[in-house]
Amino acid sequence: MEQKINAYNNILQLVGNTPLVEIKKITKNIEGNFYAKVEAFNPGHSTKDRIALHIIEEAERKGILKPGDTIVETTSGNTGFSLAMVSIIKGYECILAVSSKSSKDKIDMLRAMGAKVYVCPAHVSADDPRSYYQVARRLHEEVKGSVYINQYFNDLNTDAHYRSTGPEIWEQTNGQITHLVACSGTGGTISGTARYLKEQNPNIKIIGIDAYGSVLKKYHETGELDPDEIYPYRIEGLGKNLIPTATDFDIIDQFVKVTDEDSAHTAREISKTEGLFVGYTSGAAMQGIKQLAEEGVFDKNSNVVVIFPDHGSRYMSKIYSDDWMRQQGFFDAKNMEEAQKIEYIK
Ligand code: PMP
Repeated sequence: MEQKINAYNNILQLVGNTPLVEIKKITKNIEGNFYAKVEAFNPGHSTKDRIALHIIEEAERKGILKPGDTIVETTSGNTGFSLAMVSIIKGYECILAVSSKSSKDKIDMLRAMGAKVYVCPAHVSADDPRSYYQVARRLHEEVKGSVYINQYFNDLNTDAHYRSTGPEIWEQTNGQITHLVACSGTGGTISGTARYLKEQNPNIKIIGIDAYGSVLKKYHETGELDPDEIYPYRIEGLGKNLIPTATDFDIIDQFVKVTDEDSAHTAREISKTEGLFVGYTSGAAMQGIKQLAEEGVFDKNSNVVVIFPDHGSRYMSKIYSDDWMRQQGFFDAKNMEEAQKIEYIK
């Protein structure tokens, strides 16, 4: 008799169900037990696969999307990559309006995944018709049967994590999780995951990681969007200069702000100590844990789950480039030696 071939139908079946990995070395001087939800195990190497698949499948279910239709979004980052990937498998066109600030590598990556990319001038206001927001809106209006993902203002973003990331963490920890630490950009990851976890156990503490240069932490504490909080920073995917409706601020107990420099070094430290090659915001989340530990937030009974959103390979020309680190002024005399360890055999 013929043996059945043990294969997935396509890579979309591999979205979600990412592993939880105990992290011991980087946390050795901190009380508590720490576990990383390693989202780079998604087929598109980031947590955004979950929202791309969920939002597109909901649009199909509602009859909004038919084969050959078009997905529109404004992103050069992980969401764009995930949307392009899902579009290939499901047979949609994918249009991404990105800012001219996006690196060539990123644009090439999206094009490698078959997306049509519009590069829009970075230094125009959001209501300028050339801005990537307006270009995406216009394309969405012009292209019949298109869906605008609009991840910062789409409840389905949060819902994707309520349905997948939350239940996975609850099961993987056998309900013993005490703290969730997650970066907040759109806020979809933290809000959806937290909503599920707090329904199971309202005592679980939810801690959001924000960047210096972003309005989220102050807004959470005061209800005020303070323009003085806004200034440029390097970490991509974390923090914001507006208030996304995908974030449920009420469900988040506390925000912690981290610097570009500390987050970059901590990401490199995770790679070196845990063998987990992670992205910039994973470093930010781990840096947040270090700062919280100094405030005495954790004790030996704490079971802390931290979300590592994406893979280090996306940051080769940033935090994993010694030249870039030097240009940012992130190397001091001590770690400069570390940077120069390559030995060239002549
Ligand atoms: N890390 C990275 C690398 C991201 O791309 C994002 C998404 N903007 C986040 C963290 C934050 O996730 P969320 O948008 O769900 O808050």
